[in-house]
Amino acid sequence: MRNFIYAANWKLNKTPKDAELFFQGFLGQLPKSGLGASASGGKKQIVFFVPALTLSASMEAKRRSADSTFELGLQNAFWEAKGAFTGENSSTVAKQMGADWLLVGHSERRSLFGETDADTAKKVAAAFQAALTPMLCVGESLAERESGKTIEVVRRQLHVVLRDEAIKAKIISGNAFVIAYEPVWAIGTGKVATPEQASEVHQAIRGILTSELGEKSAQAISILYGGSVKADNAKAIAAMPDIDGFLVGGASLEPSSFAALF
Ligand code: PEP
Repeated sequence: MRNFIYAANWKLNKTPKDAELFFQGFLGQLPKSGLGASASGGKKQIVFFVPALTLSASMEAKRRSADSTFELGLQNAFWEAKGAFTGENSSTVAKQMGADWLLVGHSERRSLFGETDADTAKKVAAAFQAALTPMLCVGESLAERESGKTIEVVRRQLHVVLRDEAIKAKIISGNAFVIAYEPVWAIGTGKVATPEQASEVHQAIRGILTSELGEKSAQAISILYGGSVKADNAKAIAAMPDIDGFLVGGASLEPSSFAALF
């Protein structure tokens, strides 16, 4: 039984006022009967990864919504909870403010800010420590795909995190952990992976999870696809085996284009 997750990555977009207006529009577009269950009998969840400076306004909108249908998270946080780390954000503070999630290792963090696989492991561990659910992003560049290295890259990104004993213990003992497979060449480019390409990598990820964590834990982990997801390609991708949701950038910025995915 796995949850199907619609996750929005707003990146560095939206002021607090924009966030307030977004949620006013968005809540009105949700199906009145609720989202229903996932295909495997789990829940359907909605998560917004908002910029740190709009977390308060987003939390206010969530508090005002009668049925609190969505959850909130940060797009990045440092691995230490506090100290002399000028300019960083803390998972512990995000949790105190009401966030439940942390996005880790997005390709923009890796390529623009030099985040390494080892950094992602420290951030996943810090998220667990702060009782946030980590969503770990993995994915290959175009050059890596063209040279046949897709699975090798994803395996390396996963091994560094899953072979950390503290992280492994957290997952095996039942703490929620989510993966987003995002081919770098499909992010913000309009080039979406075919349902078959996405599913092939998702099934390989499930296999890696099984060999690292065992069948029971691997089956509980939702694996999301991200990369130019829109209403016109979402249904075909969601119908494939081992695809348990979406991580959405561009199409999550307007209430109507995000709600059109449900
Ligand atoms: C992303 O930023 O994680 C993403 C998938 O963006 P887009 O949907 O715009 O490709």
